[in-house]
Amino acid sequence: MSIEAKGVGKYYGKQKALDDVSFKISSGEIVGFLGPNGAGKSTMMKIITGYFPPNEGEIYVIGLDAVENSLEVRKKVGYLPEHNPLYPEMYVTEYLKFVAGIYKVKNKKERVEEIIKMVGLSPERHKKIQELSKGYKQRVGLAQALIHDPDVLVLDEPTSGLDPNQLVEIRKLIRDIGKEKTVMLSTHIMQEVEAICDRVIIINEGRIVADAPVSEMKNMGNAEGYSLEVEVNEAISEELLSVINGVDKVISNSGLNYSIEISSDKDIRAEISKAISDDGKAVLSMVRKEKSMEDVFKELTR
Ligand code: ADP
Ligand code: MG
Repeated sequence: MSIEAKGVGKYYGKQKALDDVSFKISSGEIVGFLGPNGAGKSTMMKIITGYFPPNEGEIYVIGLDAVENSLEVRKKVGYLPEHNPLYPEMYVTEYLKFVAGIYKVKNKKERVEEIIKMVGLSPERHKKIQELSKGYKQRVGLAQALIHDPDVLVLDEPTSGLDPNQLVEIRKLIRDIGKEKTVMLSTHIMQEVEAICDRVIIINEGRIVADAPVSEMKNMGNAEGYSLEVEVNEAISEELLSVINGVDKVISNSGLNYSIEISSDKDIRAEISKAISDDGKAVLSMVRKEKSMEDVFKELTR
């Protein structure tokens, strides 16, 4: 087992940031740790990387107790912290040699060259970190996390703040790295998990609310249900539709468009158009939309 959390709890003062968190991550998996801001993702990652101990429970990394063997654990884990703190005044190679020194990496010079190639930093290698774009800074962050060839990589929101092109490149890089290592990455963006991960662990308010292969995510939460996008010729009241069996919610969008959320799989389009025409109004269009993964995530973290 690469990472194992058993009943982990963490308090900041009186606030409980993590509550009875348990999960196992096997060697070679790429796992997305998904949750809204403030869910406890960064706190969990700091515990995994031995940055601070939990108040409750146990954490093991490659079989080592991360509290009792925090130095050993740090040697086996690469960590890209949130906001990627770097030394802006340092040159890229200088910084990576410095980090390699901290980890007592053998053949420092060769390893830095190797890692620069691996993360695609070659064109920018002679610059100061502060001169790099956000995308290249992220590559430096990944390089420092990888320099000591750790078995496990813990990446805290590795793509936040990147533009769409940088995003695609960094995701690809993480997927490539993930072929050889165990990767746990946190994100608050559903699509990120779909793009990179094999498995997802969803956390909300410090508690795990789902843990499953990405391919099964659509079946999480309330498996049933769909929504209807309806356009009418005159405004309708929410009560008109909410009395119909199965209607969960009516949301008024711009113009005369409404989203109707339906909590079962029963087709109630006929009832809806009848209710609207009985009210003296007309349905101009009605489109059925299946639940997206985004909807499932919203449901689980509401
Ligand atoms: P996430 O990374 O999912 O956004 P965090 O782990 O950063 O969540 O935070 C979880 C909760 O703990 C939040 O409510 C946050 O405000 C709180 N928190 C995080 N760090 C600290 C801290 N150093 N002191 C006090 N509260 C904190
Ligand atoms: Mg965070």
